[in-house]
Amino acid sequence: MIIDGKKEAEVLREEIKKEIISIKKKTNRVPGLAVILIGEHIPSQIYVKNKEKNSKEVGINFNLIKYSHDVSQEEVLNKIKELNNDNSISGILVQLPLPDQIRQVRIVNSIDPSKDVDGFSPINVGNLASGYNGIVPCTPKGCLMLIKKIEKNLSGKHAVIIGRSNLNGKPMAQLLLKENCTITITHSKTKNLKEKCLKADILVTAVGVANLVKKDWVKDGSIIIDVGINKQGDKIVGDVSFEEVKNKVKAITPVPGGVGPMTIACLLKNTLECFKARLT
Ligand code: NAP
Repeated sequence: MIIDGKKEAEVLREEIKKEIISIKKKTNRVPGLAVILIGEHIPSQIYVKNKEKNSKEVGINFNLIKYSHDVSQEEVLNKIKELNNDNSISGILVQLPLPDQIRQVRIVNSIDPSKDVDGFSPINVGNLASGYNGIVPCTPKGCLMLIKKIEKNLSGKHAVIIGRSNLNGKPMAQLLLKENCTITITHSKTKNLKEKCLKADILVTAVGVANLVKKDWVKDGSIIIDVGINKQGDKIVGDVSFEEVKNKVKAITPVPGGVGPMTIACLLKNTLECFKARLT
């Protein structure tokens, strides 16, 4: 089965839209998402445009704050302080990567954790690691939703994750651990990666290397979630050799059209959750 991330994201967006309409009727309020974009990095501009389009479609107020590449760290920190205190803003996101004069850790730590829709702040990372409720990073949150569309009960499954980034691999491991999976986290220094992948009931790959995972790396009947985005000529591909793997496994996400659309839908979901938490 090929997991249709585009369709699942559409279903999720529709649910979010309905909920926002219903809350607006009762409170006359809608969620507000503030996105800070620094510099002229082309992929960042495309990602932000997509976030804007999707936010507006579901009824989230989208506030774009743009700075030139040479903006000072202090100016950005002052803006975040202002947004932290602004009641019309439910979520704050600073688009990465940042220019050299700005320290990512200072920026991430300055966002009010209850408005940290990316789930990167130490409080949210700590909540996830402790198994508490909190804001979960969008990509792994979307991956888990896709996995649970295929298999509701993940208890006892062996999940292998390739990649240990704070953005993808680590939070993915925490989420699957919470689902009672047994976890193996692998990375560039892992020995015998193929043997480890072959033991996976669920394989999540977040690396950025095209065709890393081949047919003889995957177990029959497993679930494969491909987070990777790689350019191959004029095509975008994932980390998995999709064509040769797809017939061996139970379910697999394509690239594009798998995890990517779910990531943005989960950003909208996180924004709605932050908004709802402030209503009470
Ligand atoms: P990252 O920070 O560069 O992390 C990559 C991870 O892969 C690292 O842990 C690295 O190991 C590991 N790795 C690199 N080469 C490896 C190899 N040959 N074998 C095993 N592990 C290897 O990347 P990221 O931000 O997590 O992103 C990963 C991929 O996902 C990228 O292609 C990115 O574009 C994509 N992405 C997609 C979405 C989406 O919505 N679909 C969202 C975010 C990112 P070390 O730690 O040892 O260096």
